[in-house]
Amino acid sequence: MPFHRSTKIVATLGPASSSESQITALAEAGVNVFRLNASHGTQAEHAERYARIRAAEDRLGRPIGVLLDLQGPKLRVGTFGSGPVDLTMGDRFRLDLDRSPGDGRRVCLPHEEVFASLEPGLDLLLNDGRIRLRVLDCGPGFAETEVVAGGTLSDRKGVNVPGAALALSALSEKDRSDLAFGLELGVDWIGLSFVQRPEDILEARALIGGRAHVMTKIEKPAALPTLDRIIELSDAVMVARGDLGVELPPEDVPGLQKKMIRLSRAMGKPVIVATQMLESMVSEPTPTRAEASDVANAVYDGADAVMLSAESASGRYPVEAVAMMDRIVRRVERDPLYRRIMDADHPSPEATAPDALTAAARQVAETISAAGIVTYTTTGSTTLRASRERPAVPILGLSATRETARRLSLAWGVHSVWTDDVADFAEMVGRALAAAADAGIGRSGQPLVVTAGVPFGTPGNTNALRVVTIDGDDVPKAKAPAAREAVPA
Ligand code: PGA
Ligand code: MN
Repeated sequence: MPFHRSTKIVATLGPASSSESQITALAEAGVNVFRLNASHGTQAEHAERYARIRAAEDRLGRPIGVLLDLQGPKLRVGTFGSGPVDLTMGDRFRLDLDRSPGDGRRVCLPHEEVFASLEPGLDLLLNDGRIRLRVLDCGPGFAETEVVAGGTLSDRKGVNVPGAALALSALSEKDRSDLAFGLELGVDWIGLSFVQRPEDILEARALIGGRAHVMTKIEKPAALPTLDRIIELSDAVMVARGDLGVELPPEDVPGLQKKMIRLSRAMGKPVIVATQMLESMVSEPTPTRAEASDVANAVYDGADAVMLSAESASGRYPVEAVAMMDRIVRRVERDPLYRRIMDADHPSPEATAPDALTAAARQVAETISAAGIVTYTTTGSTTLRASRERPAVPILGLSATRETARRLSLAWGVHSVWTDDVADFAEMVGRALAAAADAGIGRSGQPLVVTAGVPFGTPGNTNALRVVTIDGDDVPKAKAPAAREAVPA
């Protein structure tokens, strides 16, 4: 069994990675959560990818999470008639509402409200800020611009206008349609893009109605003043550095990334660091050393997951990018310095019995060098509290709820296991031992720390802590059904 990896890998699917064999290869290389990007591709394509992920999940026998990332009120150009165009400094380039395919002189920007907010001298940033267009002249439905910084522009690339306040609603018509589609499909996470206010999350939650968990992408400066509240209202957070780094000066991003990771960890919400992590692997088989360092630093900061976008969706080396991420993460997690950083940085437990017990479980597990900490969860909350502790040993997260097991595949340190319902403590320990053996976690004679809520069946009532020895005499024997404790009314 390879060394247990605590930090998870999220990979975006796209044209370069959507066949059944490619998805399986990505999962085998270490992907824990697949991201379907609603900004690209059709619902039919995403449905096909979804089915293939579930097939790979069955073949591999471990829960895999699926994130449907809504486009949000993101501005994007239309499409081009004959492939990508090169814009050179000094060129003129027109943006308009004409939906016919673009060329080297113009392209559609299908957002009427934007033109109303433009004025001469304002800059539009395209393709994650690589291309800069300065408005020379504009009016209802058009803008004539000069290319100030050139580059290659292709279909549906993003547009940011940092200098203008745009009156855009949090969920577009397309988002609502994609959301309904994703919930029908059964995705585990819904990604909310360009969240600006706590109310944006409440609005989405009302539509989602508990059918998926909410991942808030932080990519707008407008979200920063209410960041605490926004994270509190979210189930998970994504540091969406692509748009964040376009809307804000690049030098602001590293500090904000650390701040968001700290805040999310303190609240026990999984946090993903995303975008351009191994960007050069879009076209090269190896990353730059700076990129390797970027992935490593996110891991040293204690992020739950690191993410691939174009690298896995449209690059030449999707599987190699996942394998490289896996190697970088494992190397960091073996570094004694990483362990020291995690140990120095436990958020203090909240004043509840479940939290206190979970913190104790970590201490006990580390003191006696246990093989792992076992949690059994219905909603996932108990397991997320264990993950928040960033223990030095793996967390075996058992759940009889398949959706929960899939969602927990994102959480730091959690080896997520979908199991049959258990009736009592003995049965749960039996399942945990089997799962540990399956995953190659622990060896005969090694202790395992088990937390549980007794009696079973009440979510969030963790109140018991017990140590059992793998293959030991202290493993509780499953009782005969007749002797089973009565389930309290
Ligand atoms: P996107 O979000 O890839 O949907 O733009 C991530 C980011 O902005 O970093
Ligand atoms: Mn974005």
